[in-house]
Amino acid sequence: MKTAAHFDQPSEFELIKRYFTHPCSQALLGVGDDCALLSAPKQEVLAISSDMLVEGQHFFSGTDPYRLGYKSLAVNLSDLAAMGAKPLAFTLALALPNNNPEWLAAFSKGMMSLAKAHHCDLIGGDTTRGPLTISITILGSVAPQSTLRRDMACIDDDIWVSGELGDARLALAILRGSAETECVAQSITEHELQQIMARLECPEPRIALGLALYGLAHAAIDISDGLISDLSHILTRSQCGASIYLARLPISAILIKQPQTVQQLCLLAGGDDYELCFTAPFSARSAIYAVSHRLKLKLTRIGKVEIQQGLRLLDHNEQIMYFDKTGFDHFV
Ligand code: ADP
Ligand code: MG
Repeated sequence: MKTAAHFDQPSEFELIKRYFTHPCSQALLGVGDDCALLSAPKQEVLAISSDMLVEGQHFFSGTDPYRLGYKSLAVNLSDLAAMGAKPLAFTLALALPNNNPEWLAAFSKGMMSLAKAHHCDLIGGDTTRGPLTISITILGSVAPQSTLRRDMACIDDDIWVSGELGDARLALAILRGSAETECVAQSITEHELQQIMARLECPEPRIALGLALYGLAHAAIDISDGLISDLSHILTRSQCGASIYLARLPISAILIKQPQTVQQLCLLAGGDDYELCFTAPFSARSAIYAVSHRLKLKLTRIGKVEIQQGLRLLDHNEQIMYFDKTGFDHFV
């Protein structure tokens, strides 16, 4: 569509050609025509998801463009991982305040590095002038019987999480720089800061894990809004409850040095972890540990699905804890 809000034709088309036209490995036809052409592998269905990142809302102004490109695709790949789907292709709708070539080159490089690693083709999109907004729609493929849905958790399933939780939220606290976080920042070395910033800005989508959980997990979700919030989605959709053990939550060597209130907030309500939370029967335990070993990815059993509705958090003495996110408002 040609409107006043669009770039002048030559620069818009030049920009698309220069930064967003790449060879495709899976699609029949990619960028440059009215539509892209793509078929799903035989016997499989398409898994489709969109995520939008808005400057000031989902990322700070001045975020490194390479990392921003990388993360924009990573959060979409993470949705495919949580569904047990294999990446195929994505479209990119971009609103740009200007067409700064250095910014665009770095953004495209970050995004395409991850796209290539996952054989996920950029097949089209739209480009317009406006406040910096990145909207990706991703397509993956999955055999219908191997999808990892939110509504399939069963009573007595173990609850698992991948990796470690909370580091991204700790990095966010430091970036926000409130009075409390100055104390946090002082106890963190420059090297540790780099590590947690990478967790916030370059999350690793757990595609291989999602695929490996075929036949093992009943339900899964990726942790984008925090463990409590995202696990609650599984429980609500599956019409069951759960208990999780605070002492079992996988915590990093960096976060464990923080005050307990900070640890709990980051672990439980952090967000931006992009780890997978999944449920699986007792009978799958040894196979899941084998997956962990093969993928060199920590997988931790943190609790159990129960018939009693609601999510219970148990402390070191197995007593129910009341975790109220609003109790940490100064930190949010
Ligand atoms: P139309 O007017 O038919 O929608 P456009 O002029 O918007 O076409 O886009 C031309 C081609 O470039 C299309 O194939 C479109 O999918 C692709 N495209 C536009 N913007 C992007 C982008 N940011 N990334 C990838 N492909 C893009
Ligand atoms: Mg268009």
